[in-house]
Amino acid sequence: MPRHQRYERIARTEVVKSTVPRYNLSAMIVKGGRIVARGVNRMSRDRSVHAEVAALSQMIRRKANPEGAELHVYRFLADGSYGLAKPCQACQKALLEAGIKRVWYSDDDNQMKVFTLRAEN
Ligand SMILES: [Zn+2]
Repeated sequence: MPRHQRYERIARTEVVKSTVPRYNLSAMIVKGGRIVARGVNRMSRDRSVHAEVAALSQMIRRKANPEGAELHVYRFLADGSYGLAKPCQACQKALLEAGIKRVWYSDDDNQMKVFTLRAEN
């Protein structure tokens, strides 16, 4: 199975844990083809945690080395198709600070897109 297909299947399984049903996001950090951390977006009474940050927290707890790791983030709409899941500025900053430079995200044309994070000078 192509790797993106495998990641997507896992993301769809994970996303049911999201506590923000209208904004179903599932993120994972992948290194050398292995998923080293996962996260979904969650809302609690006083704050929301973006899926990307949840995955980063798990990566840090597991002491996984971010060198060469990539983030994959999916948003699923009610009909199962992709929604735009490009990480927000705050998440991009957190990813960069954690040492993750490459980001794959679902877009509303039902394709995965990729970009490289760059530090602002
Ligand atoms: Zn965010």
